[in-house]
Amino acid sequence: MGEDDIRQYLSGKALAHTPASPTTAPRTVARRPRRPPQETYRDFNATHLMCPRCKKAQPVRQSVMLYLPDGDLHNYACTVCGTSVGTRKAGR
Ligand SMILES: [Zn+2]
Repeated sequence: MGEDDIRQYLSGKALAHTPASPTTAPRTVARRPRRPPQETYRDFNATHLMCPRCKKAQPVRQSVMLYLPDGDLHNYACTVCGTSVGTRKAGR
């Protein structure tokens, strides 16, 4: 490995921080893991959930069930019959 190779490697690394098109970026940098799908899940705000008792989607009432160090556990209850239809952990 010569000095030119190292310089080329370093310049390639520097390019990775600029929003260049993936075709010009080195192959090693282009293969980056995508963001986990958790982001969309966190933004998800349940207002209607399938109620097993009413057998259809009903508006739900949200209440905190448990306070956890890494996020609270919320409970969703059907506003029509009061049946718990699910829980969701809210991350911080
Ligand atoms: Zn219900």
